[in-house]
Amino acid sequence: MVSEPKLHRVYLGLGSNLGDRAANLAFAREHLPAAGIKVLQASPVYQTAPWGGVAQPDFLNQVLLAETELEPLALLDAVKRLECEAGRTPTVFWGPRVLDIDILLYDELTFASERLTIPHREMRKRAFVLAPLLDIAPGLVLPGGERAAACYARLTEQERTGVVLYAETLSDDEGERL
Ligand code: AMP
Repeated sequence: MVSEPKLHRVYLGLGSNLGDRAANLAFAREHLPAAGIKVLQASPVYQTAPWGGVAQPDFLNQVLLAETELEPLALLDAVKRLECEAGRTPTVFWGPRVLDIDILLYDELTFASERLTIPHREMRKRAFVLAPLLDIAPGLVLPGGERAAACYARLTEQERTGVVLYAETLSDDEGERL
């Protein structure tokens, strides 16, 4: 008997701080479906001062809810391929990037391997992840039972105000396609 492939709900974190940043995020949204990752919901876009002490332009960040049949490591391969297609070349750790795609959550999965940790290791501490995530999933409960809103409430005022709304919505065209 052949069993139906299972659809998994995943949250992806997008970031870009090189080139046409908004177009780079749009590139990800447009090309994810061809990689087997159907975008169900897209958060507003936020602008974020960069982390890690490397002088570089501000990031644009966005969170997507998507569904996919890909297993976690195949999903990682798919998003890494997309980063390359968007023109990302390896740079210094914390350095500027055309497109960064992080797997934040994958169903209720907790998973750790050399290449992949789910939930994303830093997501509970990053305002630029939590603010857009809460916009599309205000009641979200993370694996282990903690609410995403509680993580956000723990951040400092400075961390929260460093993440500023950049674009409220997608273009009408794209919004209708989701
Ligand atoms: P980055 O600098 O964000 O592209 O991430 C560097 C590496 O982190 C990737 O090549 C992945 O192997 C690893 N990684 C571990 N966990 C994750 C995750 N949840 N999402 C994306 N990358 C991850």
